Amino acid sequence: MAYVINDDCISCGACAAGCPVEAISEGAAHYEINADVCVDCGACAGTCPVGAPNPQ
Ligand code: SF4
Ligand code: SF4
Repeated sequence: MAYVINDDCISCGACAAGCPVEAISEGAAHYEINADVCVDCGACAGTCPVGAPNPQ
């Protein structure tokens, strides 16, 4: 299980700064979460202004 960032992402970078395991990086179209690193803490979802990260 991991969180996934959808196309609503505006690439503000707030979630990447708050991720405790540095699983989030800037991708080609929007920020992306490395599912192999994400520990499912939900911090990114709480930080995001547009609700782009969601549990999958
Ligand atoms: Fe990082 Fe937690 Fe978001 Fe996973 S759910 S990407 S560990 S902030
Ligand atoms: Fe994208 Fe939300 Fe992360 Fe900002 S906080 S980079 S809008 S997913």
